[in-house]
Amino acid sequence: MDEIINRLKKVRKGAMFIIEAPSGTGKGTVAKELLKRDSNIKFSVSVTTRAPREGEVDGVDYYFVTDEQYNEFLEQDAFYEYVDSQYGARYGTLRSEVDSFINVGQDVLFDMDWAGARQMRQKAPEDIVTIYLLPPSIKELRSRLENRGTDSKEVIEKRMGIILDKMSHWDEFDYVIVNVDLEETVFKIQKIISGERMKRVRQVGLKGFVRELVKEVEEG
Ligand code: 5GP
Repeated sequence: MDEIINRLKKVRKGAMFIIEAPSGTGKGTVAKELLKRDSNIKFSVSVTTRAPREGEVDGVDYYFVTDEQYNEFLEQDAFYEYVDSQYGARYGTLRSEVDSFINVGQDVLFDMDWAGARQMRQKAPEDIVTIYLLPPSIKELRSRLENRGTDSKEVIEKRMGIILDKMSHWDEFDYVIVNVDLEETVFKIQKIISGERMKRVRQVGLKGFVRELVKEVEEG
């Protein structure tokens, strides 16, 4: 029985989970917790032209690249999706980063904006699951951004300015969670993930499994 279960796991198709939220909603913390608790989810490390914040590690949080390197990726058609010049920096998801996981039944978690989610949905509609986190209040969100202490006042104002625009896209997402409590939010997303894994389209190994069940019946 264990052998069968292991084989079923191997032939499952990975899903792509996109979590989006206005800056300061706690998306990063939620993503870190999910990755820590479930070894079958891999983080898709994006490319960005922005400078690393304190504590951010190249190759872990982002691949930090120059504008020239970013242009080279564009020329090579290396991106699954990309956003140009948002917040004064550019971001992109490398195809190589994603495909190697999905094809061996590992799920991938993305940190990307609604524009990226839209591009991904067009490219791989069956593989994409999108989750939007809303902040409990704008006041809360502003104070979280300020307390983070990683951005200048000017950057915070800029981010606050685009929050309204970002939030207007909440209804393009499959699932919406108001992030009041970290534990609760992580728990809810884990439930979404396990439900999505059970979807027939993702359990590509089922056909063979059912065929074996039928054979067993026929053979008595
Ligand atoms: P930050 O600079 O705060 O890390 O990210 C700014 C915004 O860029 C966030 O909304 C984040 O989700 C988005 N972002 C990060 N990586 C990507 C990516 O690869 N593609 C797209 N479309 N957006 C991204």
